[in-house]
Amino acid sequence: MAKLKPLEEFRAEIEQCVKCGACRAHCPVFGAEKHEGRVARGKIALAQSLLDGEVTLEPKVLEDMSQCLLCGSCYAQCPNKVPTEEIVAAARRRIAEQQGLSTFGKGVAAILGRPRLMNSLAKAGGTLASLLFRKLPEDSGLRLRFPAPWIDADRTLPPVASKPFRERHPEIIPGDANRPTIAFFTGCGINYLYPAIGEAFLAALKFLGVTVIIPKGQACCGLPAVSAGAARTVESLAQRNLAALSTPQVEYVVTACASCHSGLGKVYRELGGDFVDLADKVRDIFVFLVEQGLPEKLRALPKADHPLRVTYHDPCHLRIHGITKEPREILKTLPQVDYVEMPEAGTCCGLGGTYSVYHYQTSKQIGAKKAAHIAASGADIVATDCPGCIMQLQDSINHAGGKQRVVHILELLLEVLPKSHSSNPT
Ligand code: SF4
Ligand code: SF4
Repeated sequence: MAKLKPLEEFRAEIEQCVKCGACRAHCPVFGAEKHEGRVARGKIALAQSLLDGEVTLEPKVLEDMSQCLLCGSCYAQCPNKVPTEEIVAAARRRIAEQQGLSTFGKGVAAILGRPRLMNSLAKAGGTLASLLFRKLPEDSGLRLRFPAPWIDADRTLPPVASKPFRERHPEIIPGDANRPTIAFFTGCGINYLYPAIGEAFLAALKFLGVTVIIPKGQACCGLPAVSAGAARTVESLAQRNLAALSTPQVEYVVTACASCHSGLGKVYRELGGDFVDLADKVRDIFVFLVEQGLPEKLRALPKADHPLRVTYHDPCHLRIHGITKEPREILKTLPQVDYVEMPEAGTCCGLGGTYSVYHYQTSKQIGAKKAAHIAASGADIVATDCPGCIMQLQDSINHAGGKQRVVHILELLLEVLPKSHSSNPT
């Protein structure tokens, strides 16, 4: 099985860190905690010490290495382009190899590595929803009725889908003969929590005449396992997805989740061989829609009399790949949208995969800054391109007492597509 790069193979990158501190002001965790151990150069020095056998895995070392969102903000500012998020992920894998996964990491690996178990758990969650959760006002999410391990009682959660998205549709949805064929990599967020995003995705591609394959064999991209240091889980999920997505007629693998885009397009590339060909086919939905000429069609639509004020949050996993223009271009061309830019739209929302499970209080502090920026924009709606960010942003807005709604851009796009292009789930 293809393997992720071990920490040893990052030695050259580690040595490129000149400890200049240019990244410090841009690290969301440092901004919240003001602690040198939280900043990139501190973690890089720790990774070097791990490599050189100069530190033992004492609690402080584990704590410092867990204090990273893998958001890549430091990389963007670093004069030497040191990939801190990749080094931290490799260090977490090294720690897990030496002392085993944390209890939560074991749970992540056990569930993500068994798609059938995940499906059963999600369905049970959907069935028991009214017992487990209470609704928040204005339909802004749910909260647990009882304390549960790793989920704070004041955390906003989305409802679990009564039927997973992938079970609602046939595997192939034919389009026009002269249009591309794509595979829709749904990811877990859309499949289990936000199926409406998947329905909007299908409607948009139907509008463009694109043939969509929803491979039944697909599984989680593995990004939560990357964050937890669970290397074997990432590698086996990658193998499963490679088999599911490597159909000759598939020209592109399209995602509507920034994390899945990064998992398939960046992490899998590290695995080499056939994974590089797969990574080359990966497209974010808005990059694909722009390439397919959707903005021209949207510009032709009459403008709404009373447009909604909408702002955009850049998911880190798109921003670090330079995908910032296309989602904005689609938003700005929607006839019902009056686009406003929020301050610091590119800063992390504070979710960071397993980060917000281990460090929810810091995650909330980071989210509070984001909520303030959203409020400053004057927007009624925050649109983004990642189910994970949607969950975290809505939680942050609810804690701040805001009234803004968080949606995926595709949900706004669906509002202006002809009704005949809506998909017909079973
Ligand atoms: S990846 Fe993000 S959280 Fe981690 S050190 Fe860099 S800026 Fe800080
Ligand atoms: S990671 Fe880059 S910006 Fe940060 S201290 Fe090292 S060299 Fe400087």
